[in-house]
Amino acid sequence: MTTTLEKDLSGKVALVTGSASGIGRDIAETYARAGAAVGIADINLDAAQKTVNIIEAAGGRALAIEMDVTSEEAVNAGVQSLVDAFGSIDILVSNAGIQIIDPIDKMAFSDWKKMLNIHLDGAFLTTKAALKHMYSGDKGGTVIYMGSVHSHEASMYKAPYVTAKHGLLGLCRVLAKEGAEHNVRSHVICPGFVKTPLVEKQIPEQAAEKGISEEAVVNDIMLVNTVDKEFTTVTDIAQLALFLAAFPTNVFTGQSIVASHGWFMN
Ligand code: NAD
Repeated sequence: MTTTLEKDLSGKVALVTGSASGIGRDIAETYARAGAAVGIADINLDAAQKTVNIIEAAGGRALAIEMDVTSEEAVNAGVQSLVDAFGSIDILVSNAGIQIIDPIDKMAFSDWKKMLNIHLDGAFLTTKAALKHMYSGDKGGTVIYMGSVHSHEASMYKAPYVTAKHGLLGLCRVLAKEGAEHNVRSHVICPGFVKTPLVEKQIPEQAAEKGISEEAVVNDIMLVNTVDKEFTTVTDIAQLALFLAAFPTNVFTGQSIVASHGWFMN
């Protein structure tokens, strides 16, 4: 079937985790502009409420949800509160994440576990809670995981991050197969470096770790393998997330889509 795409999410309900900041916030605002009601789920409730205020001021609908994605209880309660407020959940963007940088031989086991807990357990728990509603009556839905170029490539000092982001490909692919009979599709978005608080924090950290300037971290490490020395932007990623959420068929299910200015090419 050939399709034409209208980027319209009217009548849809989306949950975006980690949407008080950075990439998640832009996705949430973009989904709201496209007509979706959006759950702004974040561990930081005050910041989540600020995102809601911005969306409501622009005429959109949103709900702030305090959610630590590593807590099964908080995830289940948060998803239920979204469904209670807006009637369903059609789109999940599992986006919440952090970064901890250390060489493997110095990495604390507690930091390793914290990273896998947020990135992988968080993705599993939010998916499971969303599927309860998406599978009901085979209503269906779209699940988008925020992967990274590090779902495909390795970088030094990022062992748990690279491990977790690779792991999301597996979860996405299994969900593509299991979800199909219930009209659920899944995708991984894999951004290159995006200037958000998560990355702003890494620039001085890496400069100190390697004994180089911050400019060298940006040009000689972060953007070194791009074709044009450009950062990926939150808008790039939000538009891709909108495209995937609005697409009307299963043609992209199970796929990871890389947005990295040529840093990684599939
Ligand atoms: P960010 O720091 O701007 O935002 C992350 C958000 O997640 C914050 O609002 C934070 O409060 C929230 N959060 C953290 N732990 C949480 C938890 N346990 N439960 C709920 N919320 C939690 O970061 P960002 O750059 O927007 O990153 C978002 C996602 O994009 C992450 O998964 C990250 O790995 C991924 N990513 C980022 C980049 C980049 O260059 N910025 C590149 C590739 C992938």
